[in-house]
Amino acid sequence: MDKTLEFKKHTQQDKISIIVPCFNEEKALPKFYRAVSEAVAQIDGAECEFIFVDDGSSDRTPEILQEFSSADSRCRYLSFSRNFGKEAAMYAGLENASGDFCVFMDADLQHPPALLKEMYRVVKTQKYDCCAGLRIDRSGENHLRNALSHTFYKIIGKLCRLDMGDGKGDFRMMSRAMADSILELKEYNRYMKGIFSFVGFDTKWIPFHNVERAAGETKWSFRSLFRYAVDGILSFSSAPATMAGSAGILLIIAAVLAGICAVLFCDGLTGIPLLVCLILLLNGIQMVFISIIGQYVSKDYMESKRRPIYIVKKKGGF
Ligand code: UDP
Ligand code: MG
Repeated sequence: MDKTLEFKKHTQQDKISIIVPCFNEEKALPKFYRAVSEAVAQIDGAECEFIFVDDGSSDRTPEILQEFSSADSRCRYLSFSRNFGKEAAMYAGLENASGDFCVFMDADLQHPPALLKEMYRVVKTQKYDCCAGLRIDRSGENHLRNALSHTFYKIIGKLCRLDMGDGKGDFRMMSRAMADSILELKEYNRYMKGIFSFVGFDTKWIPFHNVERAAGETKWSFRSLFRYAVDGILSFSSAPATMAGSAGILLIIAAVLAGICAVLFCDGLTGIPLLVCLILLLNGIQMVFISIIGQYVSKDYMESKRRPIYIVKKKGGF
């Protein structure tokens, strides 16, 4: 029997699955567990389960999760064989969640547990399928990193035509229908912010101020953030291949203009002007063809992800 139905047979309450990716979070986890347990105790009409995913931690995270699950039947955990990354941890957590609603939360309490009650109220009583936290500032964080992130979200917004603005993170509570549709996207290179946007569904944003990590340190280095940013762009856009084509066309135009200038203002199209024109022209033509090949490769790459062609939110009269 379906896991959700089985649970509902015993209780009329909704179940909220709290999915927590954890990578070396031994310092933050006890605080997280305490704070979130207190927050969910305030929610009427719903119980919760914790799905912790230990993403190959080398500290005491697995032991702590084992202790949680022995002491509290609401706590379950998976331990990865190595570090697979937060995206993989979120996918594994969602795959193992049985709740009517699922919410992703970071283990460092940067996602305020106090918002859970309001999120549940919104997805339960309003027409929204998802209620997400919108971080409205980045106070207390590294300035260079903030500036780079801000630029990245501007670029990705323009390139991918999906709604992935700055501050729109993974902290969101969603309906079972939305969770299931996310699970249908089985691509290996995952970029969850893009996936949320891709699957659609109505989302309500609730603003919150940035909070500093409860304990421990951020797991992202500049290098890993850069890689993540490139992954994000490549997973949802073929714009870089198109850009190569635009650059090629500009080079061809430059070659033609240089040729005209050489004829009008120099001794005709000979010697160095001819050489410059030819270099510009040949490089331009090459760039255009590289872009065309890039478009084919990117189409094939997108096909290989086997994303659903459409996602149904509701059916009637069938
Ligand atoms: N995390 C993870 N695997 C990783 C990196 C991070 O599961 O490879 C988890 C981490 O334990 C935390 C969440 O993802 O619960 C967010 O990580 P972090 O706080 O380091 O990111 P930041 O808030 O600095 O963006
Ligand atoms: Mg954090």
